[in-house]
Amino acid sequence: MTHTHFQHFEKKLVENDPVSIKSSSIFIVFIFTVIFLVVEIVGGIISGSLSLIADGFHMTTDAFALGLTLIAFWISQKPTEPTHTFGFRRAEIIAALLNGVLLIILSLIIVIGALSRFNTNYEIDSGLMFYIALVGLLINFFGMYKLKDDRKSNLNMRGAFLHLVGDTLGSLGALSAAVIIFFTGEVVVDILVSLLIMLLLLYNGFNLFKDSLHILMEGTPEGLDVKKIESEILGVKGVIGVHDMHVWSVSSNINSISCHVRVEEHSSCQPILLEIQKMLKETFKINHCTVQMEHCLPTVDYDCDDC
Ligand SMILES: [Zn+2]
Ligand SMILES: [Zn+2]
Ligand SMILES: [Zn+2]
Ligand SMILES: [Zn+2]
Repeated sequence: MTHTHFQHFEKKLVENDPVSIKSSSIFIVFIFTVIFLVVEIVGGIISGSLSLIADGFHMTTDAFALGLTLIAFWISQKPTEPTHTFGFRRAEIIAALLNGVLLIILSLIIVIGALSRFNTNYEIDSGLMFYIALVGLLINFFGMYKLKDDRKSNLNMRGAFLHLVGDTLGSLGALSAAVIIFFTGEVVVDILVSLLIMLLLLYNGFNLFKDSLHILMEGTPEGLDVKKIESEILGVKGVIGVHDMHVWSVSSNINSISCHVRVEEHSSCQPILLEIQKMLKETFKINHCTVQMEHCLPTVDYDCDDC
């Protein structure tokens, strides 16, 4: 069978991808989130608590994010094909970017809602608010427990986990607001808590937006130092120069590198290439590398500006 590059790439992804996707745990959390967001928004309207409604909106964005994450996982599992030589891994990053944008927009909308409530009089059923916030807290603890092992595996899992941390703090806030309102009748606490929830949402959204944009802009993957990679390649025996180096992520955890390596005129370049590939894999965990070997012959035109 002929070895085409897209087949080779797919094989690498499957073999070396450290991400074992736990879409089933996300699905369970998704179902719980959808059920509870309805409970929370309806409960917020009945009890008159803005922080419950805000938390319900928060849950809505979580449900949306989790749904997008699931869809993105399914899409990114599609194998590579001649028209998509990188496969569909980037779908995950696009979903993360959309999540980030959605979080930012919704948090701003709810902040405006909270601010408009400052000068109006309203009553809150703190008892109902308390019980709903308590159930929310338990559901968030359950969700965090479900996702805690997967959160380091990729951007969307991290995003999903961060959402739940925000939700847990939100539920804790709503719970304490209900207690304070019950004893003091100070409904302004409710507005302050809803603002706090939205700040957390905004923070998560901004980080998700920033990180996914970094990947879409082909930014150097987090934790990789290009200068260090360069000096390690230069350290390989026989290498006299490195240029035109690019390091990027196709998706979270899947890093690629391409570079031109200049070797001495009469050296045998194959062992050097193998040495470089081994070093990149072992030292930097870069599994997909494209190295253009160039012998330093002044008479040959390599069609490379730097040679
Ligand atoms: Zn959330
Ligand atoms: Zn050669
Ligand atoms: Zn390759
Ligand atoms: Zn070159």
